[in-house]
Amino acid sequence: MSDGIRRIVALSVLLLGTGLLWVAGRTTDDAEKADNERKGAIDEARERAASNDPRLKGAYRYDRGGWVYVHLEGEPAAVGFQHGFLLAAEIEDAFPAIQAQMTHSTRRDWDFFRNAAKEMLWPKIDEEYRQELQGITDGLNARSGSHLDVYDIVAMNAFEELPDYYVAWLDKREKTANAPNLKSPGNCSAFVATGSWTKDGKIVIAHNNWTGYMAGERWRIIFDIVPKNGFRMLMDGFPGVIASDDDFGINSDGLMVTETTISQFEGWDPNGNAEFVRARKALQYAGSIDEYTKIMLDGNNGGYANDWLLGDRKTNEIAQLELGLKAYKLWRTKDGVFAGSNWARDPKVIKLDTPQFNPSDMENSPNARRVRWEQLLNDNKGKLDVDLAQKLLGDHFDTFDKKDEANERTLCGHVDASPRGVAIWAWGPNYPGGAVQGKASDSTMAQQLRLFARMGHPCGADFLAKPFLAGHSDYAWQEPFLRDMPAGPWTEFHAGEIPVPQR
Ligand SMILES: [Zn+2]
Repeated sequence: MSDGIRRIVALSVLLLGTGLLWVAGRTTDDAEKADNERKGAIDEARERAASNDPRLKGAYRYDRGGWVYVHLEGEPAAVGFQHGFLLAAEIEDAFPAIQAQMTHSTRRDWDFFRNAAKEMLWPKIDEEYRQELQGITDGLNARSGSHLDVYDIVAMNAFEELPDYYVAWLDKREKTANAPNLKSPGNCSAFVATGSWTKDGKIVIAHNNWTGYMAGERWRIIFDIVPKNGFRMLMDGFPGVIASDDDFGINSDGLMVTETTISQFEGWDPNGNAEFVRARKALQYAGSIDEYTKIMLDGNNGGYANDWLLGDRKTNEIAQLELGLKAYKLWRTKDGVFAGSNWARDPKVIKLDTPQFNPSDMENSPNARRVRWEQLLNDNKGKLDVDLAQKLLGDHFDTFDKKDEANERTLCGHVDASPRGVAIWAWGPNYPGGAVQGKASDSTMAQQLRLFARMGHPCGADFLAKPFLAGHSDYAWQEPFLRDMPAGPWTEFHAGEIPVPQR
């Protein structure tokens, strides 16, 4: 072969190869495009078919003020299906964040939590809530094609109780080598007042939710639920979770409910019933403080142990139910105020359930906030109403350093701004957590099933994820999930509200 012919052959091979590559490339692109189109069409067809599902009858959602309002009604399975369907995008977004949080802090894998949900929690869950949880899974799968099953959803519902209560108890019991430092969380600042303490002599109730910003920024659902049995409920909540869980809710029989967790609580009863089930059941079925207490005590597993702050607008009575596992205490009055900021007050509960808690360490967050509640509530005796409650939830006075500074000791918590963090909750320096949203209501509003809610810090400050992560590499693991948390306006919601076009 002459050099000339050899060159021509080589060039031809090169051109042919390039051509083949080009054809192959186009084939891959086309196949991918066709595949995406097919997938899109399937998604659309599934969504269209599912949106005609009779279980969705009467349900709807709309977005306002940074919140997502959902109206759910009917049989337990239908309420669940509507929940899963209408909040599919929010559940798909929240699930991996919660999964990362639970597995990171405990060093246990997701199968561990699924097994705990299946073997320990599921057998004791009432049939009604099993159907609702299965309904959430079905609605989610119908809408988004998600492959999560009911045990994934149950484990997510228990995200407050499994990691810091069950695993902490299990590690101690099994003497787990190199066990992580797990502490029960310090969630929330709240009060309930009545009689001579409030402007109109009736009940005022208010709460801000403290949690990591990663979960807190997603705690943006207003649930209006009309169940087949029990009372209608209006509550804030988390996508995919059947209880309010932070907690703030009112029911159509006059009960007004909130709580703050008990810091340094220790204990778990594997034979008990999940806290998220009891809390949902109590809001749905309790028409009085006594009934509420009875439901919370029935099968108490010690999970997410709280000081429950309750009001009954029918009797104008308020109560504080300090629900430990080995001990509990109920205080009640028709003329007084109960405040919560994550501290136990009954000597027996402190001794038996929170042996490490020091009520006289005024430097720590729960005690510093307890002092601030006492100051603010006493100063405003007789003036408390929903407007004032909103302002108090955004308060930034640090009673230990005696200065205005948003940090881990202020009623509106900004732990990201504190180099101290909160050691008693295992929150390290500048932990991205604090007050993530607030709610307030009163007897008159509760009668009409109305409440005010504000997304983001109740003071109105924004949290920005990017600059925070740039300055705090300890929290780099949160990067895929941690988002900005802009503060929304105080926004009013009422049960049965029909969405109006926004201007
Ligand atoms: Zn603030």
